[in-house]
Amino acid sequence: MLALLVSALSPVGAGADVKGAAKRLDNLRDRPERLRQFLRGMPKGTDLHTHLSGAVYAEAMIRWGAEDGKCVDTVTFASSFPPCTGDQVPLTAALTNTVLWDQILAAWSMREFRPDAFSGHNHFFATFDLFGSAFSGRQGDGLAQVTKRAATQNVQYIEPLITPQFGASLAIANQVGYNPDFATMRLAMLNAGITNAIPAAEQTATAALDRRSDLQGCGTDKPDPGCSVLVHFDVQVLRNQPPAVVFAQLLFGFELMKADPNWVGMNMVQPEDAFYSTSQYNLHMRMVRYLRSVYPDAKVTLHAGELVPGLAPPSDLRFHIRQAVNIAWADRIGHGADLRWERNPDQILRRMKRTGTCLEANLTSNQQILRLYGRRHPIRDYVKAGVKVTLSTDDEGVSRTDLTSQYVKAVRQQGFGYRRLKQFARNGLRCAFLTPAEKKAALTDQATRFRKFEARFKSKQN
Ligand SMILES: [Zn+2]
Repeated sequence: MLALLVSALSPVGAGADVKGAAKRLDNLRDRPERLRQFLRGMPKGTDLHTHLSGAVYAEAMIRWGAEDGKCVDTVTFASSFPPCTGDQVPLTAALTNTVLWDQILAAWSMREFRPDAFSGHNHFFATFDLFGSAFSGRQGDGLAQVTKRAATQNVQYIEPLITPQFGASLAIANQVGYNPDFATMRLAMLNAGITNAIPAAEQTATAALDRRSDLQGCGTDKPDPGCSVLVHFDVQVLRNQPPAVVFAQLLFGFELMKADPNWVGMNMVQPEDAFYSTSQYNLHMRMVRYLRSVYPDAKVTLHAGELVPGLAPPSDLRFHIRQAVNIAWADRIGHGADLRWERNPDQILRRMKRTGTCLEANLTSNQQILRLYGRRHPIRDYVKAGVKVTLSTDDEGVSRTDLTSQYVKAVRQQGFGYRRLKQFARNGLRCAFLTPAEKKAALTDQATRFRKFEARFKSKQN
């Protein structure tokens, strides 16, 4: 805290340093590679919107899948567990067959994706099913890759999304069934033993963190820089499921957060325009609201407004952000891309500002999936309205991008300057689901990092 105060109260030193950095950025505006170099070193705080499996580059998943004896279908490129049958071959084949290697990379990510020929939306979401089996059991390896990359981009904290114990929630949902009385349904699911799977979910988190520590030599004399990146997990609930299955996952997630501090937030994933996601959207928001009343300390972030006209009927573009904020009381929303098609967007913006609801803006993802970029993207509306905006990736691996690229886009496509980017980086930590002590420490650390970073440009200014 002292460092923060010193920084805020040193108008000469800090001010001049900010000016120098801001000037440098302006000079690099039209030199993308140099700009990228500058922004790579800039403290960025956190990436709050990153699905762990999507954050891993497909090259690593092919190698891990090959080591683990997994298979790949040479027609659909779906990975699977052995034995390999029909059109499936061992993934090891991709390590010597460069054509197959390239084909898998193209199918498992947005690599060489051609927006003129395919739907970015369909291709992006399809990748998760294809690489799922290859990645299975390698979450700790993935975490090591992601934290290492985060450290090289001056990132302090990440909050990856993982789906914990979906099978257990599904079984309970099928056993108990749906009940429109949420309190009754909750009790029935608790009585049916939904919390029995909590130790396994706790184990998922600790095993991933331990594996990451081992791979990076954390706690040894020569730790990998990735060790410095703090990790907590968000629960992701698959929303394109029947109501009882969604409720069971939500309930399990809230119980898990209560039991295990490694799990700090709740989110709902899968395409927002998919059958259950759209037709049950309001019901889902009411489920979240009910569970928040039972678990008042739990944090919630929701994919909301990841839509553009054509993906969903106009009537479905009118209320997703609004209901995530007004009904589910989301602490953060992800995307918020369809803002201008919502009913009374200005009212939503005012409400988000008043309630402190943050926006996780995903510029690359919105460009690839929704073809929304440049001045058509609503990020400037959020910023102008005083909403706390932060930049995130959604996701580095599948989108073949990184957090730095989001900052580059914010400069080149949106025209933001250094001070605004700095605010995005600070907002990220302010909006993170950290404990108060962790948040205070992270913000102090970030202020120190900014002082160091900006000092490099001081002499250029004077
Ligand atoms: Zn997402």
